[in-house]
Amino acid sequence: MKNIEWCDITINPVVGCPRGCPYCYAKKINDRFHFVEDFSKPKAFLERLEQINKIKNKKIFMNSMSDIAYWDDYTIDTVVFYMKANPSNEYYFLTKKVNALENVSRRPYPNTNFKTFNNFNVFVGITITTKEDYMNYVRSVGGVRFKIINIEPILEYIDLFKYALPCSARKIILGAETGNRKEKVIPQKEWIENIIKFCKEYNIELFLKENIKKYL
Ligand code: SF4
Repeated sequence: MKNIEWCDITINPVVGCPRGCPYCYAKKINDRFHFVEDFSKPKAFLERLEQINKIKNKKIFMNSMSDIAYWDDYTIDTVVFYMKANPSNEYYFLTKKVNALENVSRRPYPNTNFKTFNNFNVFVGITITTKEDYMNYVRSVGGVRFKIINIEPILEYIDLFKYALPCSARKIILGAETGNRKEKVIPQKEWIENIIKFCKEYNIELFLKENIKKYL
C-alpha cells in the first residue's frame, strides 16, 4: 500500500466501506488488486496489527482503505489494545461520519470510549468535500470535535470563514480528486487560497497534498 504523504506508515486492519462515494480511491485500488471481493462489505485483517509491535515513534495512518465509522466493535477494541501497547507511535484515523466518535463512545467495551480515541496519541479526522459536509460538521461540533479536518477531494468552494470555526482542529489536510472519472472536479485557485488564508489566520497547520499544489 502506498504511504500517505502526511504519515510514515499505513496499516489497514479493515478493507471495504459501504458509503459508496463516487470518487473513492480505495475502491479503485481494491478493484485493481482485489483485497476483498465486495468492497461495500468491510472485512477485517486483524493479523496486520501485529506489525505495530515492531514499530516505534512513527505516524501510522490506520484506514486508507475504509472508514472507521463502519468498523465493528471487536475490531475497534483490538486496534485500541495494540495502540495502548505501543504508545510511542501516533495513530491517525479518518471518517466521513460526523457522529463516528459518538458511536465509538457508546460502545459497551471498557477499553473503547471517546476518551481513548481522543487522548493518548490518537488523532481522528473528519473528511469533508463539500459545503454541506462542512455545515454538517459545524452543526455537530457541540458534540464531538475532531483534531484533523481532511478536505479531500475538495469538490467545491468551501468558505471556512463563513461558518463557525472548527477550533478543535490542529491540522487541515487539503487534496484534489485523483483519477480520470468523467465528472472529475478540478479545484480552482481561489478555493485553495481561501483555505490557506483560513489556516494562517487561525494558526492551524496546513498540509497541502502534492496533487493539489499544481492548481495554485
Ligand atoms: S467514505 Fe472513504 S472509503 Fe468510504 S466510500 Fe467514501 S471515500 Fe471510499
